[in-house]
Amino acid sequence: MTPPAWATALAAAVCADAGVVPPRLSWRRRSQPSSTGLARRAAGIVAVRAGSDPLDQRLTLLHELAHWLAPASAHRRGRRAAHHGRAFYDVAFALYERHGIAAADALRLESGRYRSSLRHAAALGVPGATEALAAHRSSLRARPRRRWGVLVPEHRIEVRRDGRWWSCVTCGQRVVGRNLSRVRGSRRGVRHTLLGVVAQD
Ligand SMILES: [Zn+2]
Ligand SMILES: [Zn+2]
Repeated sequence: MTPPAWATALAAAVCADAGVVPPRLSWRRRSQPSSTGLARRAAGIVAVRAGSDPLDQRLTLLHELAHWLAPASAHRRGRRAAHHGRAFYDVAFALYERHGIAAADALRLESGRYRSSLRHAAALGVPGATEALAAHRSSLRARPRRRWGVLVPEHRIEVRRDGRWWSCVTCGQRVVGRNLSRVRGSRRGVRHTLLGVVAQD
């Protein structure tokens, strides 16, 4: 489909400011609120799949235009880290500010895609980035971590019918095959423990 007039005008303005030839814009729709984009420098194309949120469309286009403009060294290395590294975000956050995206929106939308953008934004002095980074770090600390652990402590297995199977009365694990014969054949009883993923606070 033909890109909307605002998108063509924005790409032209950004590239004119930077003194580079604008890319060919490819524009499609997607059903989610958020947009996705790609910048293919070799092919001369910036492609956007536009979601329903107009602000996110604008930020996505500016993000891809930042790839279009970003210093070539940030691309040549080819690593993901360099692709969205400090040099890239220096260009991107400047474009967001210059083209009408409030710092708070830029931080929220950009960090929703790339967490590491907060760290770069803070280093670049984007207003509110230091606070956003601190809030993000403290929420990481507060989030319960999951770990492997004991769900039901060691116990003696007693089995009961469970449809086609036999399962442990205490923890509900299925007891099958050789283990079932062992449980039935043992006078002293067979013991086991139920392990699994447990929440840790
Ligand atoms: Zn990107
Ligand atoms: Zn059990």
